Amino acid sequence: MPKAANKSIIAVDIDEVLMPHFQDLIEWYNQKYNTRLTLKNNHPTDPIPWGTTDYNEAIRRVQGFFETSEFKHSQPFMESIEAIKILNAKHELVIVTGRDNIIEESTNSWINKHYGKAFSKTYFTARYSLEGRSKDKADILIDIKAEYLIDDALHNCVAAAKNGLTALLFGDYVWNRAKNLPQGVVRVKGWQEVLEYFNGRS
Ligand SMILES: [Mg+2]
Repeated sequence: MPKAANKSIIAVDIDEVLMPHFQDLIEWYNQKYNTRLTLKNNHPTDPIPWGTTDYNEAIRRVQGFFETSEFKHSQPFMESIEAIKILNAKHELVIVTGRDNIIEESTNSWINKHYGKAFSKTYFTARYSLEGRSKDKADILIDIKAEYLIDDALHNCVAAAKNGLTALLFGDYVWNRAKNLPQGVVRVKGWQEVLEYFNGRS
């Protein structure tokens, strides 16, 4: 386990936290499959809006997006580059992403290209897996003794907070609105607010 002495572990999500993803995905998908997906369809549990009744077919279609040049050349949120450098000075940073292992290699090289060696490890939970490889994000967070999670998905933040982490619910997105946030979940609008939160915390 990547626990360095005296450094708290911050687990960081990729999509919509380090880089924008869903908007590009649904633009591509809607055009290709004649669907009307909107930003509200992020983190889906139902394949119907994806134009199929077969969950695995929806996953297969989305995997086609990973072959596109939009995906291959996606850029990080510029503010995240400096923010990750600053956080890395005092904390141990790891990636915990819902991405599938099939894009492990391209994801790792993307991380390296933009953040160098800032992240000590990358964990893939394969939330949408055709090979039954899905893992629970919360289980990994507990296993690696992470103290913080930065994630745009409300369900991930709630699960992390239930397990004793402090979860920073990232971004003011249409899919992560909530009237009340449970204890342990703190909303941050962007990387500036992430830095303000950690300023003075070890
Ligand atoms: Mg995300």
